[in-house]
Amino acid sequence: PFDVLVVGGGPAGAAAAVYAARKGIRTGVVSERFGGQLHDTLAIENFISVPETEGPKMAAALERHVREYDVDVMDLQRAEALLPAGDDGLVGLRLAGGAELKARSVVLSTGARWRQLNVPGEDEYRNHGVAYCPHCDGPLFKGKHVAVIGGGNSGVEAAIDLAGIVQHVTVLEFDDKLRADEVLQRKARSLGNVTIITSAQTLEVVGDGSKVDGLVYRDREGGDAHRLALEGVFVQIGLLPNTEWLAGTVELSPRGEIVVDERGRTNVPGVFAAGDCTTVPYKQIVVAMGEGSRAALSAFDHLIRAPLP
Ligand code: FAD
Repeated sequence: PFDVLVVGGGPAGAAAAVYAARKGIRTGVVSERFGGQLHDTLAIENFISVPETEGPKMAAALERHVREYDVDVMDLQRAEALLPAGDDGLVGLRLAGGAELKARSVVLSTGARWRQLNVPGEDEYRNHGVAYCPHCDGPLFKGKHVAVIGGGNSGVEAAIDLAGIVQHVTVLEFDDKLRADEVLQRKARSLGNVTIITSAQTLEVVGDGSKVDGLVYRDREGGDAHRLALEGVFVQIGLLPNTEWLAGTVELSPRGEIVVDERGRTNVPGVFAAGDCTTVPYKQIVVAMGEGSRAALSAFDHLIRAPLP
């Protein structure tokens, strides 16, 4: 069996694997796509000590770093079920295809995915005006006009955040009212460069072939279509953790995030979690790596206290 089996090969999983392997214990990583969300990212300018890099470059660097150690990397493998430890003290992990791995401890780091608008132009202009993370991409739109799609807490927070950087922010909400907390709504409405449009159904992101130059929405009350001229669209309609396969085994929050304590422990003995799939707020690369290292150290602590096999 593995001493530490990491599920997910993004920033959190890679950090967990390096930290575990450096303890000289048997470490494995199972991942569907090593590198995770980094593959969907263009510029990264907030990974401290690296002023500028690109997602795929960082993904390759993660993998190089992990492979410098004696880590069993099982890429292109999807985990389908976690089987809590029985009398043998070993946690099981069932993969798609039926194989089963055994481990004395497991770190779950399966990340998350942004909910998509699924309208024409969204895929075409992703990273060319269509963005999902205001902390990451806000500064790229300095002095420009942008829209935020989604009037929940994350959308309105994003609008307030962006209003300090960009020229103008238009918030588009599908419903006839915003769903964000009242205090956030009041703050957003107090800002001179934020416009809020409710009952707005986004129909299309439009561009000049290389970058976004507008957005078309339908007024759900009047029925008319309108076009806004702008250079950026921030989609804020939800972040979905990749934890569907854990429901019923590990405690999840109402949003589907794995509930962890300050040491990265889940409610299942020997099972830890880190990164975007957990309840820890602020989904960022540096945060995920910090959490991954912490989860691996917690797993090690668990191992040295466990009864001898
Ligand atoms: P992920 O990167 O999501 O990795 C999850 C891993 O788990 C992957 O290997 C995946 O294949 C695997 N996996 C999932 N389910 C299973 C399963 N069932 N079985 C096996 N493996 C599985 N953050 C920044 O700090 N700066 C930025 O500039 C920035 N820009 C971004 C731009 C975009 C477009 C996006 C989408 C995100 C951006 N982020 C940025 C956020 C950052 O990418 C994430 O916070 C970070 O990747 C989270 O790391 P993670 O390891 O928790 O999860």
